[in-house]
Amino acid sequence: LEYKAPAYGRTFVEVNPAYTTQTCYDCGFVMGSKGTKRLTLHDREWTCPNCHVHHIRDHNAALNILAKGQRLLTRPDQNLEAIY
Ligand SMILES: [Zn+2]
Repeated sequence: LEYKAPAYGRTFVEVNPAYTTQTCYDCGFVMGSKGTKRLTLHDREWTCPNCHVHHIRDHNAALNILAKGQRLLTRPDQNLEAIY
C-alpha cells in the first residue's frame, strides 16, 4: 500500500491498531471498560452497550483506522499512542 498510494494520488499513513476493534466508532466507548467484556475474534458483529449502534466488526475497525490516520495528518504533533 505504501508504494502504490502515490500512483493513485492517495496518502499512506501508518497507524497504531490498538483498540481499533474494541472502540465504538460512533461514541468512542471501549469494549472491556466499565465492566463490559472485550470482543473476541468470534464476535463478528456487536452492539455498543453505550450508544446501542450495531456494528460489523471489521467495518467499525476500518472506520476507526481511517479516523486515526486522518487525525494523524491534521495533528502530526500527537504521539501515535495517544491517538485512539
Ligand atoms: Zn457506541
